[in-house]
Amino acid sequence: MKIPFAQPWITNNEKKRVQGVLNSRWLAQGKEVQNFEKEFSNYVGSKYACAVSSCTAALHLALKSLGVGVGDEVITVSHSYISTANSIKYCRARPVFVDINKTTFNIDPDLIEKSITKKTKAILCVHQMGMPCDLKKIKNIAKKYKLYVVEDCACALGSEIQINKKMFKIGKPIGDIACFSFHPRKIITTGEGGMLTTNNKKLYDKFILWRQHSMNFSTFERHSSNQIIFEQYKDVGFNYRITDVQASIGRSQLSRVEMIIKKRRNIAKFYNQNLKDNKYITIPLEPSWCKSNFQSYCINISPKFKQKEVMLKLLKKGISTRRGIMCAHLEPAYKSESKFYKRRELIKSKSARNHSILLPMYYELTKNQQSYIISTLKNIIKY
Ligand SMILES: *Cc1c(COP(=O)(O)O)cnc(C)c1O
Repeated sequence: MKIPFAQPWITNNEKKRVQGVLNSRWLAQGKEVQNFEKEFSNYVGSKYACAVSSCTAALHLALKSLGVGVGDEVITVSHSYISTANSIKYCRARPVFVDINKTTFNIDPDLIEKSITKKTKAILCVHQMGMPCDLKKIKNIAKKYKLYVVEDCACALGSEIQINKKMFKIGKPIGDIACFSFHPRKIITTGEGGMLTTNNKKLYDKFILWRQHSMNFSTFERHSSNQIIFEQYKDVGFNYRITDVQASIGRSQLSRVEMIIKKRRNIAKFYNQNLKDNKYITIPLEPSWCKSNFQSYCINISPKFKQKEVMLKLLKKGISTRRGIMCAHLEPAYKSESKFYKRRELIKSKSARNHSILLPMYYELTKNQQSYIISTLKNIIKY
């Protein structure tokens, strides 16, 4: 049996919609993007949504729109995909890394306050692998110190969090801005793509301006006008646009998002049931006040077993896995930052990276395949 680690679920509907866009001859940012944004903001419950070329681009625009700049500090985690920290660097600010909680793999909110300085401008928190981080605590700290909150929701489409006894979809947003990814590893995909959501019109206006070179009219508006329009550029913007081809795929995917998440939760449940009794394996913890979408299923294995060896043994049996989430501070690109940390400070982040394994998780994974993964894993991780 050969089991990939992840794969997007593509149906004939995507193919039909792409065909429709190709037939229309309008390929770049246009009506499909507009509709994708409307449907997306409806789904998460935000006032505004702005589609961009990636979540990395979204994070960059989010921080820039809040005025994060030279010399500022942004509190975040090292234990994330590297673009979380990179987006802070793009603003020429400094990422201040806080350690994680070892069972949720998310920022430990109790460690945030002591990392705040006069230069701190924002908290960039991550809902890692789709598991919501403790936004309630984070928001309270942000309020106390007058900091902005940006949520890295790259993995968290459809995850839910309880605030004041009510469940909200991640991206409503609870913070100032939420940023999503449509890379094929995430919940829905457009190949590459991202989305910003906010309830703040002023921020939204900046996103839509900056993503298209700060051009004051969109190409689409110009084309549909019966006047002659000369556009103007007030700032130095970016080309962070997504295409109508991509948006048409996204719309099709979004229409099935609830099915996708339901399936992922079932897969996670089956892994949990079958792995929870193995004393060398720690299954993911879902706090009672939230619901994960299980973008990834991450197990922590006892240091008795070597991560790479376990992964290789699985691979030889046809099962692809990935190591746990990387740590930016351990990458050469962040070497110059090491003077800011004592090694012990990020010990749980490093340990999660070195001792956890992500198991196959995708919509089309069958029960048979999953049983095979479980029995193979149990044969490897035992006395
Ligand atoms: C995937 C991911 C990103 C980057 O998303 P792109 O759309 O590939 O730019 C950022 N943050 C986290 C937590 C991610 O998992």
